[in-house]
Amino acid sequence: MIVSNWKMNGTKADIELWINEVSNKIEYKTEVNCVICPPSCYLDSTRSFITKINSPVQLGSQEIDSTHQGALTGGINGQMLNDFSTEFVLIGHSEQRHYLNEDGVSLRAKLDSAIDSGISVIFCIGEPSEVYSNGDTKNFLTNQLDILNSEDLANITIAYEPIWAIGTGLSAKTTYIEDTHGFIKNHLKKRLKNKKVSVVYGGSVKLDNAEEILSSDSVDGLLIGGASLDSETFSKIYNLS
Ligand code: PEP
Repeated sequence: MIVSNWKMNGTKADIELWINEVSNKIEYKTEVNCVICPPSCYLDSTRSFITKINSPVQLGSQEIDSTHQGALTGGINGQMLNDFSTEFVLIGHSEQRHYLNEDGVSLRAKLDSAIDSGISVIFCIGEPSEVYSNGDTKNFLTNQLDILNSEDLANITIAYEPIWAIGTGLSAKTTYIEDTHGFIKNHLKKRLKNKKVSVVYGGSVKLDNAEEILSSDSVDGLLIGGASLDSETFSKIYNLS
Protein backbone atom coordinates (compact mmCIF):
# COMPACT_ATOMS: atom_id res chain seq x y z
CA MET A 1 0.00 0.00 0.00
CA ILE A 2 1.35 3.42 -0.97
CA VAL A 3 -0.60 6.28 0.61
CA SER A 4 -0.54 9.99 -0.15
CA ASN A 5 -1.53 12.14 2.83
CA TRP A 6 -2.34 15.65 1.56
CA LYS A 7 -2.86 17.05 5.07
CA MET A 8 -4.15 20.66 4.69
CA ASN A 9 -2.70 21.26 1.21
CA GLY A 10 -3.89 21.70 -2.33
CA THR A 11 -6.98 22.81 -4.19
CA LYS A 12 -9.73 20.93 -6.00
CA ALA A 13 -7.92 21.58 -9.30
CA ASP A 14 -4.58 20.32 -7.89
CA ILE A 15 -6.21 17.07 -6.83
CA GLU A 16 -7.91 16.54 -10.21
CA LEU A 17 -4.57 17.04 -11.97
CA TRP A 18 -2.83 14.68 -9.51
CA ILE A 19 -5.44 11.92 -10.02
CA ASN A 20 -5.10 12.23 -13.81
CA GLU A 21 -1.29 12.23 -13.76
CA VAL A 22 -0.86 9.46 -11.20
CA SER A 23 -3.40 7.27 -13.01
CA ASN A 24 -1.36 7.64 -16.20
CA LYS A 25 2.07 7.26 -14.64
CA ILE A 26 1.73 4.33 -12.26
CA GLU A 27 2.14 0.73 -13.28
CA TYR A 28 -0.75 -0.33 -11.12
CA LYS A 29 -0.60 -3.68 -9.35
CA THR A 30 -3.77 -4.99 -7.67
CA GLU A 31 -1.75 -6.19 -4.66
CA VAL A 32 -0.40 -2.67 -3.98
CA ASN A 33 -3.17 -0.24 -3.05
CA CYS A 34 -2.64 3.31 -4.28
CA VAL A 35 -4.46 5.66 -1.89
CA ILE A 36 -5.02 9.41 -1.73
CA CYS A 37 -6.20 11.09 1.50
CA PRO A 38 -7.28 14.58 0.42
CA PRO A 39 -8.54 17.31 2.76
CA SER A 40 -12.07 16.38 3.91
CA CYS A 41 -13.78 19.15 1.96
CA TYR A 42 -12.50 17.54 -1.27
CA LEU A 43 -13.55 13.95 -0.57
CA ASP A 44 -16.66 14.27 -2.72
CA SER A 45 -14.92 15.83 -5.72
CA THR A 46 -11.96 13.42 -5.39
CA ARG A 47 -14.37 10.48 -5.57
CA SER A 48 -15.93 12.04 -8.69
CA PHE A 49 -12.52 12.49 -10.38
CA ILE A 50 -11.59 8.88 -9.59
CA THR A 51 -14.89 7.58 -10.98
CA LYS A 52 -14.81 9.83 -14.06
CA ILE A 53 -11.60 8.30 -15.39
CA ASN A 54 -12.01 4.86 -13.80
CA SER A 55 -8.77 5.41 -11.90
CA PRO A 56 -7.21 2.64 -9.76
CA VAL A 57 -6.51 5.25 -7.05
CA GLN A 58 -8.48 4.55 -3.86
CA LEU A 59 -9.98 7.13 -1.53
CA GLY A 60 -8.94 7.64 2.08
CA SER A 61 -10.19 10.14 4.63
CA GLN A 62 -7.91 12.02 7.03
CA GLU A 63 -10.70 12.05 9.60
CA ILE A 64 -13.63 10.14 11.10
CA ASP A 65 -15.49 11.10 14.23
CA SER A 66 -16.64 8.60 16.78
CA THR A 67 -20.08 10.12 17.27
CA HIS A 68 -22.54 8.64 14.79
CA GLN A 69 -24.66 11.74 14.40
CA GLY A 70 -25.79 14.89 16.17
CA ALA A 71 -24.37 18.03 17.72
CA LEU A 72 -20.69 17.94 16.70
CA THR A 73 -19.84 21.01 14.68
CA GLY A 74 -17.33 20.09 11.99
CA GLY A 75 -17.79 16.37 12.54
CA ILE A 76 -17.67 13.68 9.85
CA ASN A 77 -19.17 10.24 10.50
CA GLY A 78 -18.79 6.89 8.80
CA GLN A 79 -22.11 7.18 7.00
CA MET A 80 -20.93 10.42 5.39
CA LEU A 81 -17.67 8.77 4.35
CA ASN A 82 -19.63 5.87 2.88
CA ASP A 83 -21.58 8.36 0.74
CA PHE A 84 -18.32 8.93 -1.15
CA SER A 85 -17.38 5.22 -1.05
CA THR A 86 -14.37 6.05 1.12
CA GLU A 87 -12.21 2.94 1.37
CA PHE A 88 -9.66 3.94 4.02
CA VAL A 89 -9.37 6.28 6.98
CA LEU A 90 -6.31 7.54 8.87
CA ILE A 91 -6.69 7.20 12.64
CA GLY A 92 -4.14 8.24 15.26
CA HIS A 93 -1.95 10.47 13.09
CA SER A 94 0.53 12.20 15.42
CA GLU A 95 -0.65 15.66 14.32
CA GLN A 96 -4.20 14.81 15.42
CA ARG A 97 -3.05 13.09 18.60
CA HIS A 98 -1.22 16.32 19.41
CA TYR A 99 -3.59 19.08 18.21
CA LEU A 100 -6.86 17.33 19.07
CA ASN A 101 -5.56 15.78 22.31
CA GLU A 102 -6.53 12.32 21.12
CA ASP A 103 -5.97 9.55 23.64
CA GLY A 104 -6.59 5.83 23.81
CA VAL A 105 -10.28 6.28 24.68
CA SER A 106 -11.10 8.67 21.84
CA LEU A 107 -9.02 6.66 19.35
CA ARG A 108 -10.75 3.44 20.36
CA ALA A 109 -14.11 5.12 19.67
CA LYS A 110 -12.89 6.22 16.23
CA LEU A 111 -11.70 2.70 15.46
CA ASP A 112 -15.15 1.34 16.36
CA SER A 113 -16.80 3.96 14.21
CA ALA A 114 -14.67 3.10 11.14
CA ILE A 115 -14.98 -0.64 11.59
CA ASP A 116 -18.77 -0.43 12.11
CA SER A 117 -18.93 1.56 8.86
CA GLY A 118 -16.89 -1.01 6.93
CA ILE A 119 -14.01 1.42 6.28
CA SER A 120 -10.45 0.05 6.46
CA VAL A 121 -8.24 1.76 9.01
CA ILE A 122 -4.68 2.99 8.65
CA PHE A 123 -3.73 3.20 12.33
CA CYS A 124 -0.77 5.52 12.91
CA ILE A 125 1.66 5.02 15.79
CA GLY A 126 5.10 6.44 16.49
CA GLU A 127 7.34 7.79 19.21
CA PRO A 128 8.49 11.36 19.91
CA SER A 129 12.20 12.23 19.76
CA GLU A 130 12.83 12.05 23.54
CA VAL A 131 11.46 8.50 23.67
CA TYR A 132 13.61 7.59 20.65
CA SER A 133 16.70 9.09 22.31
CA ASN A 134 16.04 7.19 25.54
CA GLY A 135 15.75 3.91 23.63
CA ASP A 136 12.19 3.46 24.89
CA THR A 137 10.41 3.16 21.53
CA LYS A 138 9.16 -0.39 21.98
CA ASN A 139 7.44 0.33 25.33
CA PHE A 140 5.89 3.45 23.87
CA LEU A 141 4.53 1.60 20.82
CA THR A 142 3.27 -1.24 23.00
CA ASN A 143 1.09 1.27 24.86
CA GLN A 144 -0.23 2.74 21.61
CA LEU A 145 -1.04 -0.74 20.27
CA ASP A 146 -2.80 -1.73 23.51
CA ILE A 147 -6.17 -0.36 22.35
CA LEU A 148 -6.36 -2.82 19.43
CA ASN A 149 -8.25 -6.10 19.68
CA SER A 150 -8.11 -9.19 17.51
CA GLU A 151 -11.32 -8.36 15.59
CA ASP A 152 -9.78 -5.05 14.45
CA LEU A 153 -6.90 -6.70 12.70
CA ALA A 154 -8.87 -7.91 9.70
CA ASN A 155 -9.46 -4.27 8.78
CA ILE A 156 -6.29 -2.52 9.91
CA THR A 157 -2.95 -1.55 8.45
CA ILE A 158 -0.45 -0.15 10.95
CA ALA A 159 1.49 2.94 9.88
CA TYR A 160 4.70 3.30 11.87
CA GLU A 161 5.61 6.98 11.78
CA PRO A 162 8.28 8.16 14.24
CA ILE A 163 7.18 11.69 15.12
CA TRP A 164 10.73 13.03 14.84
CA ALA A 165 10.78 11.89 11.20
CA ILE A 166 7.48 13.46 10.08
CA GLY A 167 8.04 16.51 7.90
CA THR A 168 11.59 17.00 9.23
CA GLY A 169 13.63 15.53 6.36
CA LEU A 170 15.11 13.06 8.90
CA SER A 171 13.88 9.67 7.82
CA ALA A 172 14.58 6.77 10.17
CA LYS A 173 17.42 4.43 9.14
CA THR A 174 16.33 1.29 7.32
CA THR A 175 17.79 -0.99 10.01
CA TYR A 176 15.78 0.87 12.67
CA ILE A 177 12.58 0.67 10.58
CA GLU A 178 13.15 -3.03 10.03
CA ASP A 179 13.69 -3.72 13.72
CA THR A 180 10.64 -1.68 14.74
CA HIS A 181 8.32 -3.21 12.13
CA GLY A 182 9.51 -6.66 13.19
CA PHE A 183 8.72 -5.77 16.79
CA ILE A 184 5.19 -4.51 15.90
CA LYS A 185 4.39 -7.63 13.89
CA ASN A 186 5.69 -10.03 16.57
CA HIS A 187 3.99 -8.13 19.37
CA LEU A 188 0.58 -8.26 17.64
CA LYS A 189 1.07 -11.87 16.66
CA LYS A 190 1.74 -12.83 20.27
CA ARG A 191 -0.85 -10.62 21.95
CA LEU A 192 -3.72 -11.05 19.48
CA LYS A 193 -2.87 -14.42 17.94
CA ASN A 194 -2.73 -12.63 14.63
CA LYS A 195 -0.95 -14.29 11.74
CA LYS A 196 -0.06 -11.26 9.68
CA VAL A 197 -0.63 -7.55 9.94
CA SER A 198 0.65 -5.12 7.32
CA VAL A 199 2.94 -2.38 8.58
CA VAL A 200 3.77 0.62 6.40
CA TYR A 201 6.39 3.27 7.16
CA GLY A 202 5.95 7.05 7.16
CA GLY A 203 8.31 9.92 7.95
CA SER A 204 10.23 11.99 5.39
CA VAL A 205 9.97 9.41 2.64
CA LYS A 206 11.42 10.85 -0.57
CA LEU A 207 12.33 9.51 -3.96
CA ASP A 208 15.94 9.01 -2.88
CA ASN A 209 15.22 6.88 0.21
CA ALA A 210 12.01 5.06 -0.83
CA GLU A 211 13.67 2.20 -2.69
CA GLU A 212 15.91 1.26 0.22
CA ILE A 213 13.07 1.42 2.74
CA LEU A 214 10.77 -0.63 0.49
CA SER A 215 13.46 -3.26 -0.04
CA SER A 216 13.00 -4.46 3.55
CA ASP A 217 10.77 -7.54 3.90
CA SER A 218 9.16 -6.07 7.01
CA VAL A 219 7.98 -2.92 5.18
CA ASP A 220 4.59 -3.43 3.51
CA GLY A 221 4.25 0.03 2.03
CA LEU A 222 4.61 3.74 2.68
CA LEU A 223 2.58 6.64 4.04
CA ILE A 224 3.91 9.81 2.45
CA GLY A 225 3.10 13.43 3.26
CA GLY A 226 5.09 16.27 1.65
CA ALA A 227 6.78 14.32 -1.15
CA SER A 228 3.51 12.76 -2.27
CA LEU A 229 1.97 16.06 -3.39
CA ASP A 230 4.08 15.95 -6.53
CA SER A 231 2.41 13.42 -8.84
CA GLU A 232 5.66 12.59 -10.61
CA THR A 233 7.50 11.79 -7.37
CA PHE A 234 4.57 9.86 -5.94
CA SER A 235 4.17 7.79 -9.12
CA LYS A 236 7.88 6.98 -9.23
CA ILE A 237 7.77 5.86 -5.59
CA TYR A 238 4.65 3.76 -6.29
CA ASN A 239 6.42 2.11 -9.21
CA LEU A 240 9.29 1.08 -6.92
CA SER A 241 6.90 -1.00 -4.80
C1 PEP B 1 2.72 12.11 7.31
O1 PEP B 1 2.19 13.19 7.44
O2 PEP B 1 2.11 11.09 7.60
C2 PEP B 1 4.11 12.07 6.80
C3 PEP B 1 4.73 10.93 6.81
O3 PEP B 1 4.66 13.28 6.36
P1 PEP B 1 6.08 13.47 5.63
O4 PEP B 1 6.17 12.41 4.56
O5 PEP B 1 5.99 14.85 5.06
O6 PEP B 1 7.12 13.31 6.66
